[in-house]
Amino acid sequence: MNAGTVREGTEGAGIVIVGAGLGGIRVAERARQSGYTGPVTLIGAENYQPYDRPPLSKEVLRGADRVELKDDDYYRESDLTLRMGVRVASIDTAAHAVVTDSGERIEYQSLVLATGLMPRALPGTEDVAGVHLLRTYDDCVALRDDAKDAKSAIVIGAGFIGCEVAASLHQLGVPSVTIIEPQEAPLAQALGVEVGNLVRRVHVEAGVDIRTGVGVSGVDTADGRASAVRLDDGTVLPADVVVVGIGSVPVTDYLDGSGIEVASRELGGGIACDESGRTSAPDVYAVGDVANWGARAGRNGRVEHWNNTVEQAALIGAELVLPSAEALALPYFWSDQFDLKIQMLGHPAPSDEVHIVSDDGRKFVAYYSRDGLLTGVVGAGKAGAVMKMRAKLQASTPIADLL
Ligand SMILES: Cc1cc2nc3c(=O)[nH]c(=O)nc-3n(C[C@H](O)[C@H](O)[C@H](O)COP(=O)(O)OP(=O)(O)OC[C@H]3O[C@@H](n4cnc5c(N)ncnc54)[C@H](O)[C@@H]3O)c2cc1C
Repeated sequence: MNAGTVREGTEGAGIVIVGAGLGGIRVAERARQSGYTGPVTLIGAENYQPYDRPPLSKEVLRGADRVELKDDDYYRESDLTLRMGVRVASIDTAAHAVVTDSGERIEYQSLVLATGLMPRALPGTEDVAGVHLLRTYDDCVALRDDAKDAKSAIVIGAGFIGCEVAASLHQLGVPSVTIIEPQEAPLAQALGVEVGNLVRRVHVEAGVDIRTGVGVSGVDTADGRASAVRLDDGTVLPADVVVVGIGSVPVTDYLDGSGIEVASRELGGGIACDESGRTSAPDVYAVGDVANWGARAGRNGRVEHWNNTVEQAALIGAELVLPSAEALALPYFWSDQFDLKIQMLGHPAPSDEVHIVSDDGRKFVAYYSRDGLLTGVVGAGKAGAVMKMRAKLQASTPIADLL
């Protein structure tokens, strides 16, 4: 091993990782920690070394620089080959090689796919100036620049990213920020209507307008730029900036013709894996937002959360060196909106029974249960109360014992 250098040309063989985001770098890190000394090659389509995505809708949108996941010393000391600005176009599983979009072939012994998601566009607005999607640092900078002089911003979709972007745009000083959501409440798909409405309260108090139960029928333009958003009920809202936050799709286009199985939409899409990240092709694994751990056994295991990616990457990174099977820890997710940290532990589902166990008008804690058993905990500004439920969740505690 040639310690002390970052190689930039083709390395290949050993471990090759496609996607240099959170999952990709964490697999590389864990493989090295587990004692792997062979070549590790990380291939990423973006021009930046791996950085963290959650700050893009929060601090970075409000003006901070991007958060690098590792510094330059780390790359030198860990002897990784970084191939940034390189997109993998296809995979030749028979020859154990990936092919880049410039036609270069890079061979692998083990291949890890960590290509994440791409945001869904609002049909017809793909090339309209002033309409933004948010997944990458470049997306974030484009939105931030555009928001500087905006008088009104409209966020389409009140999921976590939409709500965070609305809060950040408001904090950036955009005078009018409106969220449009066809469901009954913000975050209803993730947290249910009752808890979603507790989050609505925080936004409304701050001055964000949230319109629920109404969809978007189109975006009007003037001089080639977005000028207004038309709603299903006929309302037309002026908009200098429009942010589309209507969900994302797994990036799997480069798998066409590879024979690597992709999960059906009904099963959550993404790369079909067994319960520990193995795809249908020998020596090929998948981690993170793109991976559907369980789909090959008929279960939708695709999760689009930071912690899930980190835990899967740790398992795969170690597995490439020493086969091991640890159980995944309890799912955990957080979201920052204004000064509130919203945290979710376990598997709460919108169809579960919801029990609001504390609510001071701003901060709250809700337990979720199914068939009489605790399934999840959601809290806002209540980290201690959420985290202390970890053991109860792991033990499938009857909800009656907790109320
Ligand atoms: C704005 C935003 C806010 C978020 N906030 C939170 C939060 O508050 N809490 C939370 O738990 N999670 C949050 N997340 C989700 C979290 O960031 C993801 O779960 C995590 O980044 C997933 O990591 P990943 O490695 O699977 O994918 P990514 O980090 O998306 O990395 C995938 C990489 O693969 C590259 N790639 C794709 N195709 C190719 C190809 N063919 N060849 C080469 N490279 C390719 C992409 O360019 C990308 O760089 C947020 C995400 C976003 C976008």
